[in-house]
Amino acid sequence: MLLGFRELKLDSKPVIVHASLSAFGKIDGGAETLVSALLAVFDSVVMPAFTYKTMIIPPSGPEYNAIPYGSGADANRMAEFFDPKIPADPLMGILAETLRKHPNARRSTHPILSFAGVNARTALAAQTLSEPFATIDALVKQDGWVLLLGVNQTVNTSIHYAEKLAGRKQFTRWALTPRGVRACPGFPGCSAGFQSIAPDIERYARQARVGEATVQAVPLKRLVRVVVERIKSDPLALLCQREDCERCNAIRIHHAAG
Ligand SMILES: [Zn+2]
Repeated sequence: MLLGFRELKLDSKPVIVHASLSAFGKIDGGAETLVSALLAVFDSVVMPAFTYKTMIIPPSGPEYNAIPYGSGADANRMAEFFDPKIPADPLMGILAETLRKHPNARRSTHPILSFAGVNARTALAAQTLSEPFATIDALVKQDGWVLLLGVNQTVNTSIHYAEKLAGRKQFTRWALTPRGVRACPGFPGCSAGFQSIAPDIERYARQARVGEATVQAVPLKRLVRVVVERIKSDPLALLCQREDCERCNAIRIHHAAG
């Protein structure tokens, strides 16, 4: 397992990791073994540890925000306060939650879009309520890489950072915190259409096999540049094709309205 990660030859560069544990087949020790392997090979490891259950739907808010205002009465009652100790959403995968619980891990403070990391203090500290992807920006400046472990570009959070840089419309969401409900601007669009960037970044990516999984490493600077160029040349690039996708449709409407 260590050998496969070392083959990527990322030296001491920080990595942001997205993973599907099941893609590896059977691993003795499961997620903990995989996290230990990552920490043994890479100096600095970050993963998204997002917490969607803190989200509240308010009765009203800004237009074209792809949210059914006023519909949240039941869901709002189920919402939980953000606390640094609440588990990452199951959608983030068991590996992210395992990293978050690691004794040397820290977590950034965004009530919905927090990141967990080991030896990633600068990147984690960069995040603010209004700049949730400042952590990615910091990793870009550190010549970081994205590691996709048995997953594809549809979970590549760093593409959201590039979307914002390209000027793509962002959304506002609301989260329950111990200090009350907080508006969280800079919330990203939908990532279901991100796989269409794959051919554009193939030539910059490195691949290895780890267990049964294909592992892909993509340099963040290149990724961001490629995504920004793609959206600048086609403002509707990377949107998904689901007819009822609220966020992708809001971006289309926003664009058509100029
Ligand atoms: Zn979509």
